[in-house]
Amino acid sequence: MGIFNIKPFSRVSKIIFTGLSILILYSIIASFVYAILQIEIDVYVKKSTELALYTTKLSTDLGELIIHSSSIIKYSKLNDKKRLKTSLIKAKTLMVSTDADFKNVRHYIKTAGIGIKTILPYVDKSYFNYTNLIRPIISRIIKYHSLISKKIFLTPIELALYKDSPVFSPLAVKAVKETIKREKIIRYYVNLIYLTGSLLIFASILFFIFYSKRKTKEIENLYTKFNLIFDNIYDLAYVTEFTRDAVPRHFIEVNDMALRKLGYSKNEFLKLSHLNIINATNEDILNMMKLLFEKGTMTYTTEIKTKDGNIIPFEVTSRIHITQGQPPMGICIARDITDRVKTEKELKRLSEVDPLTGAYNRNKYKEIIGKEMDRAKRHKYPLSAIMTDVDFFKAINDTYGHVTGDEVLKDIVSLIMKNIRSEDYLIRWGGEEFLIIAPYASLNNAYLLSEKLRIQAELQYFSSKGIMITLSFGIAELIENENEISFIKRADNALYKAKNSGRNRSIIFDEKSTY
Ligand code: GH3
Ligand code: MG
Ligand code: MG
Repeated sequence: MGIFNIKPFSRVSKIIFTGLSILILYSIIASFVYAILQIEIDVYVKKSTELALYTTKLSTDLGELIIHSSSIIKYSKLNDKKRLKTSLIKAKTLMVSTDADFKNVRHYIKTAGIGIKTILPYVDKSYFNYTNLIRPIISRIIKYHSLISKKIFLTPIELALYKDSPVFSPLAVKAVKETIKREKIIRYYVNLIYLTGSLLIFASILFFIFYSKRKTKEIENLYTKFNLIFDNIYDLAYVTEFTRDAVPRHFIEVNDMALRKLGYSKNEFLKLSHLNIINATNEDILNMMKLLFEKGTMTYTTEIKTKDGNIIPFEVTSRIHITQGQPPMGICIARDITDRVKTEKELKRLSEVDPLTGAYNRNKYKEIIGKEMDRAKRHKYPLSAIMTDVDFFKAINDTYGHVTGDEVLKDIVSLIMKNIRSEDYLIRWGGEEFLIIAPYASLNNAYLLSEKLRIQAELQYFSSKGIMITLSFGIAELIENENEISFIKRADNALYKAKNSGRNRSIIFDEKSTY
């Protein structure tokens, strides 16, 4: 699987572009050379035509006619058999254009039963045309060379010099030699151009094949390595597209670990978006994505839903990647923090509770009292505090020992916990002193609760030793504009009064009393 399954097209197109550029450059150079050649050819054709006419005239004078293949075709087409026959009989040499139909010409020669001594092929000026020069190079070269090897690439000039030719005029020879020299040079350059062109193209093709193969292999290796890493990292990795205004679209890539952990197949996952997998309201998710867009990179903890509906806590690091002309992408790496969250929760719990009894400690008290006083004031409901202290606890320690004393404290906490509501809090205030914070409880209700606890304690045996104890209670209800210190102090004062007035009783704080 993995993220990289795209072929490196960009490199291939670069190579194709380079190859095409070389071809175009070559064509331009070839055109220039062709233009120069054209001028040369014009001169050559003019001279050779003159010479051909001259030699023809000479041969006619000598009674040895050179007949051109086109004449045969022309006469035969006109059905002028008489003229054709006369010409063929007279002719000693036949010039056959390379463009002519050889079979046809041979047929006429045979049927006419004439005794032509020499059949000489002939290439006329149309052979040197632009199309021929830029035709597909390889086939062009093959054709060109096969023509030479068959000795049919002959010009009228060569014809005049050909050993069987009847014409040997010194003037013609001189002119012919000069023209042939010129023509040879032309041919040399034509050859050179074709050869260079084909070599260049051949080299380009070889280079293209070799280079692209090597590059593809290199890139494939690289991708394999990347895929290996991408799919085997312990974290979840996924990539998403965004709209320009930070709304997450569907995911576009995901690694194997994410699929395994969340229980989706790749196809299923790529149809989802952040809005489907994050355990939060759409509004919260969109706000978070907006923030991510502003920052560019962000690490946040969140909960992700698996396909089965399980919720797993993750720490996600996301980065926004923007490429010109493409939708923004978000690259996310998510780490499962289940164990960490568990440990953190446990650490938090340990920092909030008293290890002996499990009641909240003074640390947690600060958080509770602030929160509950605010809430009570805001929503205007009563909030009461009940402070309790074990009567003559010192004596229990002295009689039964500290360990038993500890057991008694634990049992007291169990007793209180059984009797208070879930919204009430029990705090270990000091050694054997406990504070109950009771939201929604009026002074009277708090008094009823403390009396209930007091009576139950009185009737119960504590610790494995079956010790009997009593508890004293001081109760206060939060009054307007009161701070936390004063509130608890009043409950404490009431407890003091309970102790002083004989213990094993509940006393409500009374404004008029002086303690
Ligand atoms: P009273 O409150 O009724 O006036 O008498 P008291 O004997 O309870 O008096 P005081 O509050 O002075 O004594 C409390 C004793 O509780 C003193 C201390 O040794 C004991 N104590 C405090 N914390 C613990 C604890 O965690 N375990 C045990 N076993 N004893 C403790
Ligand atoms: Mg005491
Ligand atoms: Mg005490």
